[in-house]
Amino acid sequence: MILGDVHDVIVVGGGPAGSAAAIGLRRAGASVLLLERQEMPRDKPCGDILGTQALSLVAELGLDRRALDPFPPLRGFALHVAGRRPKVSRERDLASAPRVVPRKILDAALIDLAVRAGAELRHARVDQVLQHGETIVTRSRSGDHESRLVIGADGWGSVVARSLFEERHAGQTGLAGRAYVHDPRGFEGLMRVFYSEETRPGYGWLFPIDRTHANVGVGVLRSDGHALPALFRHFLEDPGSPLLNLLGDGASVDSERTWPLALGWTARRRAAGRALLAGDAASLVGPLTGAGIHSAIRSGLMAARSAAAALAAPASTAFHLAAYERDCARWFRPRLGLERLIQRGLAAPAGLGALSALFTASPRLDALWTHLLFSLG
Ligand SMILES: Cc1cc2nc3c(=O)[nH]c(=O)nc-3n(C[C@H](O)[C@H](O)[C@H](O)COP(=O)(O)OP(=O)(O)OC[C@H]3O[C@@H](n4cnc5c(N)ncnc54)[C@H](O)[C@@H]3O)c2cc1C
Repeated sequence: MILGDVHDVIVVGGGPAGSAAAIGLRRAGASVLLLERQEMPRDKPCGDILGTQALSLVAELGLDRRALDPFPPLRGFALHVAGRRPKVSRERDLASAPRVVPRKILDAALIDLAVRAGAELRHARVDQVLQHGETIVTRSRSGDHESRLVIGADGWGSVVARSLFEERHAGQTGLAGRAYVHDPRGFEGLMRVFYSEETRPGYGWLFPIDRTHANVGVGVLRSDGHALPALFRHFLEDPGSPLLNLLGDGASVDSERTWPLALGWTARRRAAGRALLAGDAASLVGPLTGAGIHSAIRSGLMAARSAAAALAAPASTAFHLAAYERDCARWFRPRLGLERLIQRGLAAPAGLGALSALFTASPRLDALWTHLLFSLG
């Protein structure tokens, strides 16, 4: 059963990648059907950090700056390496400093921008995607939909990737647990990162959303995934945990969830037939930071540009979609590659000592590291 018209593009998934793709396509004049399996607003396990790049990209999508007012800019970075004194470095440029915006709020705001740009949003969980000649068909319980092109922005375990791409994510995988903390005593507005022998090259975090709420969590490589539940419990509950030392007696913890991350650049395809993959579906999460919102938005916009060019010149569809592969490789490969290199250094036995030394070499240098770190997301 085919429901309704044939759209130019179906975007599967209404996270940051899908909303960005839909907005980009509408700006280029294409008709867009956005299929999202969850009702918005919905939670997505995340550290909720919008770094310097992500902040500028959400502005490019049209997000009103005032929507970010409840989430003050982070005022600095605190590095906690087990067994050493915490190192605090202040950020001077608060205008572009990261903010911690719960995904429940951010993703609902971005999908709203996509709808206001003219994308048609339907609540549907896509079970399968088929390509018949020059037509794409998406299948879900509520019916089939047709389009000329499809963008898979459906995150980890993407059904578009499983249906239309032979490759699987062959790179490094991470696993992270996240919770929210409310502490009436309040937080200092510092992005806190906790490294220990058990988590490296992954880390624990405390990212303050506002004065009294924070996002906390622990991320490890998948190879250490079996240890995550115990590490997460230790981080949240053990009196010896560096997190508990920072919380007052009245603090409460809720909304614990765990989620995988496809880390780093891999040689997988991101364009095949009449399909493109963006965001986590395309494996674009930073292996050092675990940040992927900026990559999701950027790749969503890049995919929209290539899809719009393909729609305008149907005889050269393959050429324009292949341009997306090249754009992705040009932008993401060097950046994700650099993060992977630093991550490898941290995984080495002397890694944590070197990191600590880097941040204590001179106040000028650690301000520079902090600035660079803030711009990785
Ligand atoms: C614990 C954790 C902490 C993180 N912290 C940060 C951080 O602080 N900063 C940062 O930048 N990044 C962070 N990341 C990474 C970031 O969350 C992702 O990179 C980002 O969500 C990718 O966006 P996306 O739009 O590609 O995918 P998603 O945000 O996963 O969105 C995919 C959407 O597709 C929908 N969908 C899935 N399947 C279907 C289907 N079959 N049919 C219809 N809809 C479907 C989903 O419901 C979802 O809404 C973190 C990740 C984890 C797991």
